[in-house]
Amino acid sequence: MSRVFNFSAGPSCLPEEVLKECAAEMLDCNGTGQSVMEMSHRSSAYEPIQQDAEKMVRKLMNVPDNYKVLFIQGGGSTQFAMVALNLGIKSGKAAYINTGVWAKKAAAEAKKLGVKVDVIASSEDKNFSYIPKVEKIEGDYDYAYICYNNTIMGTHYEYIPETGNIPLVADISSCILSEPLDVSKFGLLFAGAQKNLAPAGVTLVIIRDDLITETPRSGTPTMLTYKTHADADSMYNTPPCYTIYVLGKVMHWIEKNGGAEGMLKLNKEKADYLYNYLDNNDFYHATAEKGSRSLMNVPFLTKYDGDKATEINKKFVKEASEKGLINLAGHRLVGGMRASIYNAMTLNGVKTLVEFMKEFAAKN
Ligand SMILES: *Cc1c(COP(=O)(O)O)cnc(C)c1O
Repeated sequence: MSRVFNFSAGPSCLPEEVLKECAAEMLDCNGTGQSVMEMSHRSSAYEPIQQDAEKMVRKLMNVPDNYKVLFIQGGGSTQFAMVALNLGIKSGKAAYINTGVWAKKAAAEAKKLGVKVDVIASSEDKNFSYIPKVEKIEGDYDYAYICYNNTIMGTHYEYIPETGNIPLVADISSCILSEPLDVSKFGLLFAGAQKNLAPAGVTLVIIRDDLITETPRSGTPTMLTYKTHADADSMYNTPPCYTIYVLGKVMHWIEKNGGAEGMLKLNKEKADYLYNYLDNNDFYHATAEKGSRSLMNVPFLTKYDGDKATEINKKFVKEASEKGLINLAGHRLVGGMRASIYNAMTLNGVKTLVEFMKEFAAKN
């Protein structure tokens, strides 16, 4: 059985080298005679694994000393609540930029928890195919919130909004470590692991020390309080040890491949190859506007509409998957197809996809 090229938006492909290392250590990790899955999280066998993962995140992302790196469960979606509960505590007001599903869900969750949400900009007018330009955010907001890479719409910020003293929060679930990012411009960053970091099960949170409050909004559960996890070095309760172990290995793989800069170079090469084809043929076109395009998630449509489009899209996804190019169906809100080309997707995978696209266009 040969390995497929997996274009899933998440969980997504992991570097083959990392999977092989994990396999080799499955029964006996570091001479302990156990799998990481079986280790006590408070053992001398496991603790260095988590410490190394954290150290590598700090190193690769250049995390300043006045920020904590936390491993939390509950996925990106739980952060929608944690951000509101822990940061929305002074004026009780927050600014959100609406760039699609994930930003909208985050805003809805904050509202539900009693934070007054101002949607200060939106790209809903054009089905979220671009990132609105908001140079400056001002007001008595407790925080400003953006979704930096929009996994479903295939858009990505090409700038960081200026927020002065207002802490900027960004969901970087689908672009973390795909490029260098200046952490000091943000109050809080978070990312579910299952796109660019590891299997599902852990969410990475990078939070500036002064935002770790002792007094979140009233009624906030212990587990949803950042301070709980910060004070316990992400060991307040049992962490998802195996996922963190894989995350650490992915960090070393990124370092070996040039760090965040190396990833950007590779990702640009892959994305340019695909967009260049999409922009220069009359069968397919990308849905995201130039100037807002994601390097990670590339939704595209064919020239057909209506029932014919539905039929062609289905045929594309089916025939691609028969050739080992899997999970290319688009999200229902955009339609068509979507190729997610995260860090672990190779240039060869993207070239193979484009070859298939050419053949398919010629026959249809
Ligand atoms: C996948 C994703 C989420 C949701 O993550 P879960 O871990 O499934 O809760 C949130 N935001 C973005 C940008 C995503 O891509």
